[in-house]
Amino acid sequence: MLDPGHGGDDGGARGPRGLKEKTAALELSRAVALRLEAAGFEALATREGDTLIPLWDRARAANAQGADLFISLHLNAARAKSARGSEVYFLSLGKGDSPEVVALENAQAGAPPEAEGVVASILEDLAQKAYLQDSERLAVAIQAQLNRLAGIKQRGVKQAPFIVLRGAAMPAVLVEVAFISNPKEEARLKDPAFRAKVADAIVQGVRLFTAGTTGTSRRRARS
Ligand SMILES: [Zn+2]
Repeated sequence: MLDPGHGGDDGGARGPRGLKEKTAALELSRAVALRLEAAGFEALATREGDTLIPLWDRARAANAQGADLFISLHLNAARAKSARGSEVYFLSLGKGDSPEVVALENAQAGAPPEAEGVVASILEDLAQKAYLQDSERLAVAIQAQLNRLAGIKQRGVKQAPFIVLRGAAMPAVLVEVAFISNPKEEARLKDPAFRAKVADAIVQGVRLFTAGTTGTSRRRARS
């Protein structure tokens, strides 16, 4: 399950030349989906168009579809225009890293759904807790390939309390592909050839992850 960040009224971060994070994330998601399908995976997305899907509903959609992996796609932003590179996150149940990135990405979450009681909330955290080691392994694989195949500087694998990762009953990562706030990286994100490289890198990360999964691999072969 691919999860292009933001959408609709939530544009996400904005580049100095006007590129919106929601647009770049959707284009990246489409490129990754095409390549996943070509590699024999079944690719789904939490949104196919410019719509706002509440953060709370995205992992639920993945669970409902029986997805094997959850990959949320975002672009980073910083005040320093020179900040560049990728960060790949998996869920932290505590404070974790990068509070400023978490604040940006969780900003449009809104209140949890009415039915979200304390027990439901604890169960959602436990859902992802069982997959944290696999989530970290997936994050490491994707981070390495973003550097190797797309030439993006590695800022590291990190752990943070992103709402969108909570409740995913499968390995789940959030990829901050590059900095939309950096004029050079914004320009690259507009280039379909660069987006293709990013997509290749993410798919290769998924392939390496699934190849290394023994016993717990739930990949559904398409025939
Ligand atoms: Zn974002």
